Amino acid sequence: MQLFNCPFCGPRDQSEFTYVREVAPVPTLDDSQTTWQAYVYERDNPRGPHREWWHHNHGCRQILELVRDTLTHEVISIQAARSAGAEK
Ligand SMILES: [Zn+2]
Repeated sequence: MQLFNCPFCGPRDQSEFTYVREVAPVPTLDDSQTTWQAYVYERDNPRGPHREWWHHNHGCRQILELVRDTLTHEVISIQAARSAGAEK
């Protein structure tokens, strides 16, 4: 069991959250098909700290931005995605 410390709900089991995707700028409707294809299908898959969006779907229903180590699963930081400035 792993706990995520939601900034709104406090420590909660990871099973309450759903992985959304890695943090990336969302293309605009005017962007090319190639840009959209890269956004939807391409992933960096890094080794080590990785910025990710998670949805607290069984809690506050907020989108959160985590920095998570992909080797150890340690959550280095967690905050609301909107306060991180990650959403358009
Ligand atoms: Zn929450």
